Amino acid sequence: MKVKVLTIFPDLLKSFFNTSLIKKAVDRGILEVKVVDIRDYAYDRHKVVDDRPYGGGEGMVLKPEPIARALEDILENGSHVIYLTPRGKKFDSTVAKDLSKYEDLIFICGRYEGIDERIVEKYVHREISIGDFILNGGEVAAMAVIEATVRFLPGVVGKEESVRNESFENFLLEPPVYTRPAEFMGMKVPEVLLSGNHKEIENWRLNRSISDTRDRRPDLYKKYLKFKEGER
Ligand code: SAM
Repeated sequence: MKVKVLTIFPDLLKSFFNTSLIKKAVDRGILEVKVVDIRDYAYDRHKVVDDRPYGGGEGMVLKPEPIARALEDILENGSHVIYLTPRGKKFDSTVAKDLSKYEDLIFICGRYEGIDERIVEKYVHREISIGDFILNGGEVAAMAVIEATVRFLPGVVGKEESVRNESFENFLLEPPVYTRPAEFMGMKVPEVLLSGNHKEIENWRLNRSISDTRDRRPDLYKKYLKFKEGER
């Protein structure tokens, strides 16, 4: 998979792509990444990328020409272009799984009041929001979407098994986890996890997943019940 990110703050993305599982995916050739500085595509010698909004109002808007020129430079057959925006569809693990099927993902990060809408009309296939809150820019949102998506590529997370068992798969939250020591500040690890009895451990984990999902995420629990109903 190729992932390209258009931003006016390329340094924010560079360390992200150079760290941990994402870096490993790049080193293994599973992932190819490119950070594109929108400013490199500005026309004038001052490299201006923003301007005042038509109709007046606060803040600035990212100009369309530099973004269009940057896109024309990197678009390929089958590129899927995403704009991160609070106006987009809410991101979740189903969207991440869907995105993981594309071979070329292009992310446009907005800043200030956003990007000129004509870029969205002409180039963007999908608008994504990572939640009902406002970030300063699309970079943090792009990183969240990329990380969640790349985890679904075979060979990125150690065993594919560990992606399959994670929270939100099968509409359940994962149970809590523990490591050594068995007692910490007077708090003991649940006995069953020390028992070595795999069947009982599996049962404990499933029951804890179900009760935690019911208590913490009633919305998700409803989906789980529906999913179980469908399985019968
Ligand atoms: N004035 C805009 C609004 O109310 O919709 C918000 C602009 S925000 C300060 C600047 C940029 O951050 C946006 O263009 C977008 O790219 C990004 N952004 C902010 N919040 C986001 C969110 N929840 N999800 C995805 N991107 C977001």
